[in-house]
Amino acid sequence: MSFSFLQHSVQAVVASSDRVQAQELLETLHQQPLPEEYWPTKVRANPTQLSSFAVSFDIDGVLLQGKHCLPNASESITLLQRLAVPFIFLTNGGGMSEKAHTQRLANRLSVCLDTRQFIQSHTPFLDLIPRLQEKNVLVLGGEQSNNIREVAEGYGFKNVITASDLAAANPSIFPFSEISQEHHNKLAKPLPAGPLVIDAITVWSSPRDWGLDLQLCRDLLLSDGGLLGSISKTAGDATLHNHGFQSDTPELFFCNPDHLWPTDYKGADGQPQLRFAQGAFKAALEGIWSVETNGKAPLISRTVGKPEHETFAYANNKLQAYQKVFHGAGAPDIGSIWMFDDNPASGILGANRYERGWKSVLLETGVHVAGTVPSVQPTSIQRDVKTAMGYAFQQEGWSLPEEAWVWATKLTQAIKKLQNVLNSPSNPQSL
Ligand SMILES: [Mg+2]
Repeated sequence: MSFSFLQHSVQAVVASSDRVQAQELLETLHQQPLPEEYWPTKVRANPTQLSSFAVSFDIDGVLLQGKHCLPNASESITLLQRLAVPFIFLTNGGGMSEKAHTQRLANRLSVCLDTRQFIQSHTPFLDLIPRLQEKNVLVLGGEQSNNIREVAEGYGFKNVITASDLAAANPSIFPFSEISQEHHNKLAKPLPAGPLVIDAITVWSSPRDWGLDLQLCRDLLLSDGGLLGSISKTAGDATLHNHGFQSDTPELFFCNPDHLWPTDYKGADGQPQLRFAQGAFKAALEGIWSVETNGKAPLISRTVGKPEHETFAYANNKLQAYQKVFHGAGAPDIGSIWMFDDNPASGILGANRYERGWKSVLLETGVHVAGTVPSVQPTSIQRDVKTAMGYAFQQEGWSLPEEAWVWATKLTQAIKKLQNVLNSPSNPQSL
């Protein structure tokens, strides 16, 4: 079926507002191949040869600005899919399941996505499952719902305990709960019977009730083997490693090192002012810990998320694995991976440090301000996702003709029209 015929069909479906036809046509468009004349010359010369490079996308400031798509974001994904170039999303966002997050991004970009391509800040916590799935795990952070409990249980943690569970079971565990106690009572589940031993503390998203969560972390990190309400027998013993602190207490995990993040808050000058992110919570806990230990023992914890090595190792392994899943065991290993990010301290720093074929492209559509000198030097600075794609493709010898972008834009526009038909509340067939 020719593309121009499909475009006419879209117009007819939009005019009729027929949801069944809209859905069928949408599925056809999602499968529509890129016309061969728009393929990069290298691909046309050898169509069976698979790409040996891949792209890793940050999301906010690269593909999206708030809830809205940045120009050419959808087209970039569409073209990579049609040319079978592997790609992943690597974001420090989180707070919801990979499946829900992937679906939300797919809707916003008007493309089909595979959950396995989506790595968010806490995705590497999946690697903790073999060791901790039967243990009592304190789960901190998340929205005013049981989102994070459900996400953690969805990962496979069988004994999830939240700060709300502890606050509801013992309201005096944090003395200043007058603002939040009702909230915790509403969200709490009963604790297991008997003395409670916590084996690990995991922070999944920015904590909402900092006072309570800091108190719980401090208590457990100074406890006797994670037994809530107990006191460590070794803490402060100068003859022991790390002065006896954290010798047998719960392991502590964070998943997003970002100290600040952009929200819709603006300062007196009308300009956006960044707000605390999860990294600020960690800094607060480190400050408290320094007082508790008289500065004798650093806080021992593990952090995943960009720019940490562990997250890039996880992403690298996943990309290599996906290449085989999508293209068979004989598919070539991925030689170079292009990280597109708007934050020098996040994806750019992480890709530069990880090396192993990772290259960094800093975009000017988010945190980094055009014309300023970034704190970390990327492989290249590009205006937006389209020029970043053009640069990466050129470096790989894959010049992408402008006609391919024009085609992808028309396809995206047609898909968005059909999505509007399906989502329209005024559609009489939806009543
Ligand atoms: Mg970003």
